[in-house]
Amino acid sequence: MIECDAAICVRPGEDLVIDRIRVEPPREGEVLVEIAASGLCHTDLTALDGSNATCVYPLIPGHEGAGSVIEIGKGVTGLRPGDHVIPLYGPECGTCRMCASGRTNLCWSIKATRDKGVMPDGSARFHRQSETVHHFMGTSTFSRYTVLPEIALAKIRADAPLDRACLLGCGVTTGIGAALDDVRAGDRVAIFGLGGIGINVIQGARLAGAAEIIGIDINASRMDLGRSLGMTQFIDASMEGARTVEAIRDLTEGGADVVFECTGLIPVMRQAFDSTAPAWGSCVLLGVEPKGAELAVPPVGLRYGRKLKGSYFGGVKGRSGLARFVDLYMEGKIVIDPLISHRLSLAEVNQGFAMMKSGAALRSVIVFE
Ligand SMILES: [Zn+2]
Ligand SMILES: [Zn+2]
Repeated sequence: MIECDAAICVRPGEDLVIDRIRVEPPREGEVLVEIAASGLCHTDLTALDGSNATCVYPLIPGHEGAGSVIEIGKGVTGLRPGDHVIPLYGPECGTCRMCASGRTNLCWSIKATRDKGVMPDGSARFHRQSETVHHFMGTSTFSRYTVLPEIALAKIRADAPLDRACLLGCGVTTGIGAALDDVRAGDRVAIFGLGGIGINVIQGARLAGAAEIIGIDINASRMDLGRSLGMTQFIDASMEGARTVEAIRDLTEGGADVVFECTGLIPVMRQAFDSTAPAWGSCVLLGVEPKGAELAVPPVGLRYGRKLKGSYFGGVKGRSGLARFVDLYMEGKIVIDPLISHRLSLAEVNQGFAMMKSGAALRSVIVFE
C-alpha cells in the first residue's frame, strides 16, 4: 500500500478536494504507475459537473497523463519497472472481436468495469480513510500513483519528456490521428472549433499534405497559434454567423474535401456537414454532443456521396500505435510545447478548470513535483 496526494471529486458540482489517499498494489495483469504530469481535458469536466453516466463518486478524474512503471502485478509480461508509459482510456487487448476486426481502435474488453469506476476484477485500488474512491475512464491521472491494467498502458520511448508527452494521451493524438486518417495530399480542409482538439487537427492536416486548412472559431485569439501550425485561412464565426457555410464554399470551390467538427454543438455539426464537397466530402465528428442530443441531416446529401462519420482517439490503437506519435513529436514534425498555456501544481487543479471554462487556457498541465 502506497500513500499519496490526489484530486478527488467527492460529488458532482463541487470543487475537487486535494487529499491523501492509499493506493493498493497492482493485482494480476495490473501495473502501478507514478504519474509525472497530467493535462486537463474537457471530458474531465463531465465528471465534475455530473453529466457523465460512467461516473461513480467519489472518484479521481484525469485521463491525459504520462508516467513511469513502479510495480507490475502477476502475469504482466510487456512492461517492467522504470518503463515510461501513457495511460489509455481506450485499451487494446488485441484479442476481442473489436481488436481482431482490424476495423476499429475501440476495444470494449474492459468497458463494463471501467464504466463502473473499478478495475476488471470489480474492485477499486483507491481508498480515502475508510471509503473507496473510484477510478475515472480507467486512468485517474490526477493521482500521483494510479493502477491500470497492462492492456491500458502504451509504452513510450524513455527520452520523451513526460510533462509534454502526456498530451498524447488525449487531445493531441485525437486531433492529429483523425486528420491523418481522412486527409489526403492536396485536400481542402475545414475545422470548426480551434480548441485542444481542433488546433491539433490543423497539425495533422498539414502533415497529411492538405493544400488549404481553414479554421473556424468564435475566438479570434486562436488565429495566431492556428497560423503557426499550418492554418491557411481563418473564419471568425462570431462575425459570419449563418454565412459561415457560404464562406467555406466560396473558399473551396463549393465545399471542403474533409470537414472536422470539434465543438460538440449540434447546429455547428450541421454547418460542418453542409460545408463538405457535395459528392465526396467527409464530415468527421470529434466534438462530444450534449447527452441525448440528435443530429438531423438531409438524406440527399448522403445519397450524393457525402460521408458523415466520427473518430475516437484519432482512430489510434493505443498500445501499438501511440509510439508513432511520440516519434513525430521527438522528430519535430508535430509540436506540443506551444499548446501548453499553463503549468500547475496538483493544488491548483480547480483554478485550471476555471481557466478552461473561461477560455483563458488552451491546455493546462498538472506537473507532480
Ligand atoms: Zn480528453
Ligand atoms: Zn480488445
